Amino acid sequence: MNIILLGYPGSGKGTQAQVLARKLGLMHFSTGDIFREEISKRSALGLEAAGYLSGGRLVPDKLVLDLIQSRLATETRGLLFDGFPRTVEQAQALDDYLASKGLAVDRVFFLDLPEQEVVSRLGARRTCVKCGMIYNILTSAPAKENTCDSCSGALTLREDDKPEVIKKRIMVYRDQTEPLLAYYKGNGVFSEIKAALAPQAITEQILSSLKTVGLC
Ligand code: AMP
Repeated sequence: MNIILLGYPGSGKGTQAQVLARKLGLMHFSTGDIFREEISKRSALGLEAAGYLSGGRLVPDKLVLDLIQSRLATETRGLLFDGFPRTVEQAQALDDYLASKGLAVDRVFFLDLPEQEVVSRLGARRTCVKCGMIYNILTSAPAKENTCDSCSGALTLREDDKPEVIKKRIMVYRDQTEPLLAYYKGNGVFSEIKAALAPQAITEQILSSLKTVGLC
């Protein structure tokens, strides 16, 4: 089973992906997490990608697609994509890649969040530097301030969750990622979920939608 989570930055894709991957035994594939990991390792890929992330721009398709090829080559589990694809070209390349293995995208969930909420959600987001767990200090704060509930790691505000970068990321989403909605609506795998719901309610809706079409 191959699933894509689509939506504005801050719409809850990462939070849902962490839970769903565990429940469904899928590989959580977050291109954003991979880029941040490569940046912290100061690898060649990280150095090339760093300026795009800090400026809120998309990493060029060629780099992203090379990364997909190399990371997925030996993967046998189903895939849960979070933050990929982000352009129509990436979506086409993913379809071709899966088709070459006799597979396809089985379901696309669009987490629909009003644009006004994106800014406040991203400003309140904190991420654990150790395990990547995501918190929102207004709606799902950790028990102890700035400390991860599950591994006691420190929580940080992502560089690109600062207000000036958020504006750019919203524009980039509208220009380059929103066209994916039409792309996937056209092939019958698209479902829309209201992202303003509580995280647990969203997970339940996604699981029940997968059950309805016999995928879990
Ligand atoms: P995310 O963690 O998904 O919000 O991604 C953080 C940043 O990583 C984005 O703002 C882009 O700079 C970069 N990035 C992540 N995924 C992609 C992708 N599929 N295509 C291009 N750039 C990406």
